[in-house]
Amino acid sequence: MNIPDFGQLERDCLHAWDHAFEANPTGKEKFYLTVAYPYPSGAMHVGHGRTYIVPDVIARFWRMRGREVLYPMAFHVTGAPVIGISKRIARGDEKAIRLYRDLYKVPPETLKQFVDPLTIVRHFSDEYQRVMSACGLSIDWRRRFTTVDPQYSKFIEWQWKHLHEGGHVKKGAHPVRFCPQCDNPVGDHDLLEGDKAEIQKFVLVMFRWKDAFIPTATLRPETIYGVTNLWVNPEVTYVRARVDGVPWIVSREAAEKLSFQDHTVTVEDEIPGSSLVDETVSHRLCGNVPILPAKFVDPGMATGLVMSVPAHAPFDYIALRDLQSKGLYAHIRPVRLIKVPGYGEFPAKDAVEKAGISSQDDPRMDEITQQVYSAEFTSGRLLPELGGQTVREARESVAALLIENDSSRYMYEFDTRPVVCRCGNQVFVKILHDQWFLEYSDPAWKALVSRHLEDMTLVPPEVRAEFERTVSWLKDWACTRRVGLGTRLPWDPDWLIEPLSDSTIYMAYYTIAHHLKEFSPEELTPGVFDYLFLGKECPDHPRREKLVQMRREFCYWYPYDYRFSAKDLISNHLTFQLFHHVAIFPRTCLPRGMVVFGMGLLNGAKMSSSKGNVFLLEDAVREFGADTVRMFLVGSAEPWQDFDWRNELVSSTRKQIERFYNTIMESRDAPRTMSVADAWLVSRLQQHIQRTTEALERFQTRQALQEAFFAIESDLKWYRRRLVPGTPGGGALHELASVWMRLMAPVIPFTCEKLWKESGGKGLVSYAQWPVPEQVKMNGDLELAEELLMRTIEDIESIQKVLQATPSSLSLCIAPAWKRDIFSRVARADDRNAVMRDIMKDEQVRKMGKTAAETIKQCTSLVHRLPPAIVEQYLAGKLDEKAVFLSARDFIEKEAGVPVTIVDEDESAHPRAKLALPLKPAIIFE
Ligand SMILES: [Zn+2]
Repeated sequence: MNIPDFGQLERDCLHAWDHAFEANPTGKEKFYLTVAYPYPSGAMHVGHGRTYIVPDVIARFWRMRGREVLYPMAFHVTGAPVIGISKRIARGDEKAIRLYRDLYKVPPETLKQFVDPLTIVRHFSDEYQRVMSACGLSIDWRRRFTTVDPQYSKFIEWQWKHLHEGGHVKKGAHPVRFCPQCDNPVGDHDLLEGDKAEIQKFVLVMFRWKDAFIPTATLRPETIYGVTNLWVNPEVTYVRARVDGVPWIVSREAAEKLSFQDHTVTVEDEIPGSSLVDETVSHRLCGNVPILPAKFVDPGMATGLVMSVPAHAPFDYIALRDLQSKGLYAHIRPVRLIKVPGYGEFPAKDAVEKAGISSQDDPRMDEITQQVYSAEFTSGRLLPELGGQTVREARESVAALLIENDSSRYMYEFDTRPVVCRCGNQVFVKILHDQWFLEYSDPAWKALVSRHLEDMTLVPPEVRAEFERTVSWLKDWACTRRVGLGTRLPWDPDWLIEPLSDSTIYMAYYTIAHHLKEFSPEELTPGVFDYLFLGKECPDHPRREKLVQMRREFCYWYPYDYRFSAKDLISNHLTFQLFHHVAIFPRTCLPRGMVVFGMGLLNGAKMSSSKGNVFLLEDAVREFGADTVRMFLVGSAEPWQDFDWRNELVSSTRKQIERFYNTIMESRDAPRTMSVADAWLVSRLQQHIQRTTEALERFQTRQALQEAFFAIESDLKWYRRRLVPGTPGGGALHELASVWMRLMAPVIPFTCEKLWKESGGKGLVSYAQWPVPEQVKMNGDLELAEELLMRTIEDIESIQKVLQATPSSLSLCIAPAWKRDIFSRVARADDRNAVMRDIMKDEQVRKMGKTAAETIKQCTSLVHRLPPAIVEQYLAGKLDEKAVFLSARDFIEKEAGVPVTIVDEDESAHPRAKLALPLKPAIIFE
């Protein structure tokens, strides 16, 4: 086998593609697709590769379909992450240096310059462009920009002017994730750990102890009536702190947290947890209760002390039971306060006992806790003597009561911990007061988004529910930061617009990004953008004609047709961009569709740069070749499914491309004669064209590859078998080669470009016309005839495997007309279960008695086993089975290795001849 030099071949192509994908408005219909621009703070891994390669396959497909295709790319550098990285590198953080020096392979001289955050951004943007090009992405690079370019900042200022005027930006107090080291709120992308952590709002129930309060945090304030004790961790050192002038006993961590939540906190003294054990505290609503020891109490969670409600909280129940089993605190009894259908007096006790749980460490504890909580929340009521409210109502009213009369406060805490900033510091919940918010909670704004969502194409359709959910629960979004790179808020320039808020309508910017570079930032006034994007009156401008042209180009490309992104961005970016579009653009410019991706795994584990579990895209391209990487990434799963990168599987993809290459090269020498097998191959090819086209129209890259590569390869295998030995194949190979190069060009463009040139194709294969199935070349009867041969050969082979003696001849017995008639009637029957009774009503059939009944049974089972397409073709066409076998007798003899006779069933005296069925001749070796 001839193995091409893929490295050379890729370099040749890159040269030929230099400006090939620069897209300009033409008379053709357009196709505009975008991908979320990357944040270039580290090297790309193969997971990123798929994010850009799948859209490239789609872009290349539509380009060959005759569309004007725009696939642009830019770099998102807004925010604090690179600043965090550069700080870590500047202070010599070993972990950061190892990541950048060893994993991302940044040269030592460049790494030294990373103390300037813009150097990081520049280094990785260039590297991204280089690697993206090496992957064959058909991007129009003239439009490349970064989000700190001055022209882009002018565009963002224009966008925010509209959001502000539209009443979508409000100032207020809000709990946010906050890094004290960076002195900044932090978004998902700024986190090293805890990016899934949500902020929860707890009520602090304030117990009196001596002259101080012991606050315990709860999400279920109504259970105050059932408190039997508090829990303290005897191994933890607590502090006595003055909180807004009043002494509180809390964990040291809690004291620090409270200082970020509108409290002045001064730590006065330390108090060992052990000294609190057996102390008594009191509260108006539950009286005096003791403090009991429990090692499970986490000082890092809320205040570090908790109240215990053993009747309704499984953890509390089992902790109390453990102590009592040692003979301690025997006098404490659970106090019931809620009635829940389906549970007895003490729901927590019921749940623990029913599950047979014997220890606090049982992994099912969280699950049963959840069960009890949700049963009580949905159908529980307080006891009549406590007012009889539903739990749902009581939760609100008791919280209000405690705040009003019992010194309670709210405290915010993460539901999962730790939460760590990229700078390495712990993240806190902080209440910001002069913070700006995008008011995503606004029902009128939500309604506009929901209405537009109905008109959008979402791929796969299952994600629609998740989008709807996100639109409905989305809360106000803290959209400004104190520190970072980016654009300042036009009306309050102390604030910077954060990354998820300056990346929502830039798809419009792409359409004229290359022209905007010619303007100075000062020229790009709001009036200019109002004209360019909204078609308001064109301002008097020295370059008015240029502006008119830009407006035309925007109108040609916009709205975008599809946006591609990962599924974890549905809950933020993908939904945010819809909010911003409906707020700013007219209906004619609203997004048309979105394609949502699954995640990437590496050898079965989630890819993660910070954990080092990644395979760099550039290394993959160097090791396997760009086409192999592409074909593996688009072929191993559909885009919305998770994929798993495994080097051994990737290697076999490379072998497939080599086989493809050789087949096309060898086909050039084939004679142009057409045999039956040639006609069959050409007929089959039309179906593969059809199915590949349909799959790509639906973004099913894996399905497309099944048709465009594997199905064609399997046809070729049969075709070669059917050739007279020693002959090189015929005219079909020329047609197949021409079609095959084009079907595969979107997936493996380098190889196809090279082959296209070698075969004397006109221009670039990247712009060759996509193949169209031709009706005249389709021959259903011929395909069925070959199918019959294929199946018969398979049957012959499996019989040969079990033969005891070496046979001297083979007869194929063909089913008679009456069996064919029964087969057709069975296949056509609406109700295949009732078919026996129906057919037996026929006088002629009934006369044959048992034989007929047996045949109906066999035909029914055969019809069930056969692929429906074959049965359909059998009913639609005219298949002369005997003629098929007679004309292929030489072939069958070659395959079987014995002389072959073909007879009608009744011409044979052999008892097995009677087994013949349509599409299944009786096979008799003698
Ligand atoms: Zn930080």
